[in-house]
Amino acid sequence: MRIGIPRESRPGETLVAATAKTASQLAALGYDVVVEQGAGAAADQPDVAFTDAGVRVVPADEVWSSDVVVKVNAPTDDEVGRLRPGATVISLMAPARSPELVERLSTAGVTALAMDAVPRISRAQSMDVLSSMANVAGYRAVIESAHEFGRLFTGQVTAAGKVPPARVFVVGAGVAGLAAIGAAGSLGAIVRAFDVRPEVAEQVESMGAEFVTVDMEQEVSSDGYAKEMTAEQEAATAAMYDEEARAADIVITTALIPGRPAPLLVTAETVAAMRPGSVVVDMAAANGGNVAATVKDERVVTANGVTVLGYTDLAGRLAAQTSQLYGTNVVNLLKLLTPGKDGVLTLDMDDVVQRGITVTRSVEGGGATAEVMWP
Ligand code: NAD
Repeated sequence: MRIGIPRESRPGETLVAATAKTASQLAALGYDVVVEQGAGAAADQPDVAFTDAGVRVVPADEVWSSDVVVKVNAPTDDEVGRLRPGATVISLMAPARSPELVERLSTAGVTALAMDAVPRISRAQSMDVLSSMANVAGYRAVIESAHEFGRLFTGQVTAAGKVPPARVFVVGAGVAGLAAIGAAGSLGAIVRAFDVRPEVAEQVESMGAEFVTVDMEQEVSSDGYAKEMTAEQEAATAAMYDEEARAADIVITTALIPGRPAPLLVTAETVAAMRPGSVVVDMAAANGGNVAATVKDERVVTANGVTVLGYTDLAGRLAAQTSQLYGTNVVNLLKLLTPGKDGVLTLDMDDVVQRGITVTRSVEGGGATAEVMWP
């Protein structure tokens, strides 16, 4: 079978679904791999890197007529139209939030596999693009904040006097939050963190940060994700957020609840009470934001001089490595889907990982129809 790697069509996208290295790993599974001209240019993967690795670089039409098309962003309507019935498309899809896309994929008769629906179980960790991207994004959030912050992160004792370390407050200690805690700590900041899941306290403390506690009971769903808070819990945490944010130089928020808008945690009043020169990075901006002042994809400076960053492309700002990690996650998935290492993709609906990612499945001999498998 032929696997095609297209150039991402989303404006400003830097990522590519395969690097020269991961494309040749796909080829080692028996596939004929083709990459669209210029697909990796923004991720330090020029066409020559692919050809040097023995991977063919071809025009878009040959990519889109492949048996399997692997990309980063969900296919647009036009792109779905370019897939041939019976083909397989693999990408991020946010199927829970994209009923129209699911319908379109189904009527196009394609099998669609969502990289962002990989179950959060140990066996599937090596295919978990959400963790790969959140990890890079958490690190980059700290770098962005350090760039905006007009002072040192680390404390220093100099002949000209003492410089205090920056104080960083991280909200949400999942994958992105823990990466941010690690990066901020390694720059020398004093880091404090809060999460509604008290079991992460140990991880936070093992990274040298202090876990902030609030006196409340928090329910956690059986799959380890956070649930929405009750009004009482919200009131208890609101005062804590206000106090922590006022004392902090940098606030990095990462709080998400799967399938729901992000909880609004830091109010406009709190941001207005922060010191001039402070920085907020709202990593939940793509899902509505955790901070009242956030504008998605924008850098906002409030009247009191607080910079609020709502960038949603943090992982894409480290494009080469994020593409490498994404590509490796894809290779690990394709290893699972190619048990014979013979270049033939097979889907086993009895396997929890394969069932979990299958959004639509083309019906054999059914022409342009595919069964909707999601959720
Ligand atoms: P996420 O991106 O959905 O959420 C980020 C964090 O925000 C979570 O830690 C969540 O508890 C927290 N949060 C939600 N509401 C909050 C609020 N109101 N205030 C403060 N914090 C709030 O989560 P994630 O980083 O993708 O990971 C979630 C869980 O899944 C973690 O337990 C993680 O270890 C686990 N996980 C498991 C695997 C695996 O086993 N394959 C992979 C990745 C993550």
